[in-house]
Amino acid sequence: MKLRTRLAAGFFVAVCFSTLVGRLWYLQIHEYDFYAQRAAGQQLRDSVVPAPRGDILDANGTPLAVSASCWTIRAVPREMADEDVAEAAAALAQLLELDEADVLEKLSQRKSNDALLKRRVNQETADAVRAACLENDWQGILILQDTKRWYPEGDFAASLLGFTNVDNQGVAGLELEYNSLLTGQDGRVLSAKNAWGYDMPTDYDTYVEPVQGNSLKLTVDANIQHYLENYLSAAVKEYSVSARGVGIVMEVDTGRILAISTKPDYDPNEPRVIQDEALRAQVDSLTGEERAQALTLAQQTQWRNKAVSDLYEPGSVFKLITAAAALDAGVVTTGDSFFCGESYGVSGVHFHCANRNQHGPQNLAQALQNSCNQSFIQIGQRLGKDAFCDYFAAFGLREATGIDLPAEPAKSEFYTADRMGPANGLTKTPHARFFQRIEWLQRQRTKGGAAV
Ligand SMILES: [Zn+2]
Repeated sequence: MKLRTRLAAGFFVAVCFSTLVGRLWYLQIHEYDFYAQRAAGQQLRDSVVPAPRGDILDANGTPLAVSASCWTIRAVPREMADEDVAEAAAALAQLLELDEADVLEKLSQRKSNDALLKRRVNQETADAVRAACLENDWQGILILQDTKRWYPEGDFAASLLGFTNVDNQGVAGLELEYNSLLTGQDGRVLSAKNAWGYDMPTDYDTYVEPVQGNSLKLTVDANIQHYLENYLSAAVKEYSVSARGVGIVMEVDTGRILAISTKPDYDPNEPRVIQDEALRAQVDSLTGEERAQALTLAQQTQWRNKAVSDLYEPGSVFKLITAAAALDAGVVTTGDSFFCGESYGVSGVHFHCANRNQHGPQNLAQALQNSCNQSFIQIGQRLGKDAFCDYFAAFGLREATGIDLPAEPAKSEFYTADRMGPANGLTKTPHARFFQRIEWLQRQRTKGGAAV
């Protein structure tokens, strides 16, 4: 009986022991790479050092968009002592202006290796967090170098510059168009940690410097841009323009854009804040899904670069093109005279000048000066619809401008010669409707007191 017991026990031990040896062999030799890597992963902490974006400068080198240093606060909850959690959560919530319950919940994930507390705080806040951690000997709070976009001029050239998202990626304007050029190369910090995540007393830190993105120098001149924005804002206010005003200043010899603006716009430092106070109040008076939709619409409207993205009927601005075409074609001279009476009839449709003005005899310069509809109908008739449309194309008005800003429509809308009158039933032709529409627009604008 004793012998059998001993044999059985010996056999049992042998089985167990060989299993153990097998398991050790499996873990230490067969699975060596896996566990070695896992240990290294626990010992080495790898963090990204975001690269600053390149600056955007005006033609004179004035910075319009720059990158500023800031700090992102993260936590490694498993490294924090259990007894520190509540006190640290309360203090950090106050320093970082966060909800205490949220911070407590994050730090209470006792096995968590990473929790974001707050992105992109300034030096003062980062220093206060560091001081609190040192004073109380709290472990597991990381203060990481970061970078954020800053627009020193605030609400200026917004629809031109655009803005970036939380990941420092351009989402509108030049920030979007030149995103890859402006984006730098992130750096890294690799620091050695022991199994619990505390710093090891060694020089294991590796620091790979981030590389700043390329700078972008514009043809836009900040001085001219300031003049344009000031006058445009004043005009939008004075005439209660509801659909936003647009202005472009171009160097005529080269086509360089010296200033471009849509007003009202926004502050690219806070692109999501609705600038228009009345509209903001209107959005804020809503709740739930309705508010979310209204907010999105209001944001997208204020971000839209109307100078590039919207089509509109040029109206009397186009008289310059008509005049240039007629002079170039030799069908008028600067000395020719046109007459502006009560109205001018084209195939039974009578056209007036704005406010029913009668300008009388007009030479070309006077007709332009007075924006005289009747004279310009006569000039257009001399040119003829085919030549008119040919010049329209020759000026490049059928093509996209190809400006290096996002969201320009690929196609314009325009009349072709075969769609223009006169023909039978003229009041229904696109030509007549076009002029009626222009006249209607002029009436609307003159009602508000604005010159066309
Ligand atoms: Zn007239």
